[in-house]
Amino acid sequence: MSGRTHARACPERTCVGCRERAAKSDLLRIVVVGGECLPDPRGTLPGRGAYVHPSPACTDLAVRRRAFLRAFRVRGPLDTADLRRHVERAAHVTP
Ligand SMILES: [Zn+2]
Repeated sequence: MSGRTHARACPERTCVGCRERAAKSDLLRIVVVGGECLPDPRGTLPGRGAYVHPSPACTDLAVRRRAFLRAFRVRGPLDTADLRRHVERAAHVTP
């Protein structure tokens, strides 16, 4: 995940799982709707967003570190089942 050669000004975000910076397009936007963490791959859902690598490792890390609670400024608990399903599916298509 080295993005040092990117001279172009591409928007960067920090993954709430591993805390590494990455291009916004390489990260999955997450929003919270009704206490549920929902993947927002198109970035179209309204509201506060958090970014995470679309991998089970990073989402697990984010859940364990309660990073989503912090990112969304909620007390929780948050339901991450949908998100987990999404990244697990994504992990199968991208090697
Ligand atoms: Zn990450």
